[in-house]
Amino acid sequence: MTYHANEKGYYGEFGGAFIPEMLYPNCEELRHNYIQIMEEPSFKEEFDQLLKDYVGRPTPLYFAKRLSEKYGTKIYLKREDLCHTGAHKVNNTIGQILMAKKLGKNRIIAETGAGQHGVATATVCALMGIECIVYMGEVDIARQAPNVARMKMLGAQVRPALSGSRTLKDATNEAIRDWINNPVDTHYIIGSVVGPHPYPDMVARFQSVISAEIKWQLMEKEGRENPDYVVACVGGGSNAAGTYFHYLDNPDVGIIAVEAAGKGVNSGESAATSALGKIGIIHGSKTLLMQTNDGQITEPYSISAGLDYPGVGPMHAHLFKSGRGEFISVTDDEAMTAGLEMAQLEGIIPAIETSHAFAIFDHRKFDKDDVVVVNLSGRGDKDLDTYIDYFKL
Ligand SMILES: *Cc1c(COP(=O)(O)O)cnc(C)c1O
Repeated sequence: MTYHANEKGYYGEFGGAFIPEMLYPNCEELRHNYIQIMEEPSFKEEFDQLLKDYVGRPTPLYFAKRLSEKYGTKIYLKREDLCHTGAHKVNNTIGQILMAKKLGKNRIIAETGAGQHGVATATVCALMGIECIVYMGEVDIARQAPNVARMKMLGAQVRPALSGSRTLKDATNEAIRDWINNPVDTHYIIGSVVGPHPYPDMVARFQSVISAEIKWQLMEKEGRENPDYVVACVGGGSNAAGTYFHYLDNPDVGIIAVEAAGKGVNSGESAATSALGKIGIIHGSKTLLMQTNDGQITEPYSISAGLDYPGVGPMHAHLFKSGRGEFISVTDDEAMTAGLEMAQLEGIIPAIETSHAFAIFDHRKFDKDDVVVVNLSGRGDKDLDTYIDYFKL
């Protein structure tokens, strides 16, 4: 019994590769090669070196003393906010750009909603001197101007998606269309543990550096590798997958996933996929998905752009369905309050995505001797305007 993907990319009944025939060669090339490439010593060496010298790993595992005192349990923070570019996303884009090079690709495409994944992709393309095209909905381009500017400064071309609601899903359609037309020279960098096999497993493996580090860091601090709980927020689920990865099959370690309830799970403005989702197919993967009775994808809502996604990766759908993971949904208000508390108790301003994870301490009691590791997925600089508006700072 394992909670990892099987050879066909299934986590229980979720995952797989539900793709148009025209994409088959692209996915098949990747599927056939990804594990072998990741296990090559030269790949590992370059990946580890860049994570160390460019991203700034290992990121610290920090004992949050004042937060722990307040909630009567031992809380550690895994500091992904200290990664270059301010969040965990770069762990994956570094991995995928090296993968693209090994596969002989010289052109990168990506899609982005809020722009964080676009920036992480443009960053590694600049690093490697590879052409970068980022698809972004026209509406998102207008509301995420600083990230558009960052991508341009990094040398990427930002192409607007003009169809549909002109947001993330339309940008994804454009990226897929591009990939179909350029199967030989182009690699598509997907930004979370979503999409057709092998993406969810490949991205989880790149992000698994997070829990690999937690193991030895916790051994140094607590004399044991295993915390009682690992906690992360879930949008598509990549920072969560990395935080859980080396603990998935260890029942001694509790897994807690935090989703965005927006204005309330039943308000009609939410992104709480496990609570609201039904089985469906999105971006080539069978998973839990917010949809209408006739299977149309419902527009998700969260104050945090990174959690504003109508599905979850198949790993998380399986963790939910099997009961291995405990899923908690947190509203905008609860997350914002928790973000402010984190700033004032620990001197760390978290990304609003991450603030959702901290809000669980008001939802759920832990024992005084429990060791709870929360993944601090990103820093709050990008969210300052939202904090300013919300708290009238
Ligand atoms: C993008 C993002 C997320 C959500 O993405 P996952 O794939 O679910 O990790 C969470 N936190 C931060 C800081 C992000 O930038």
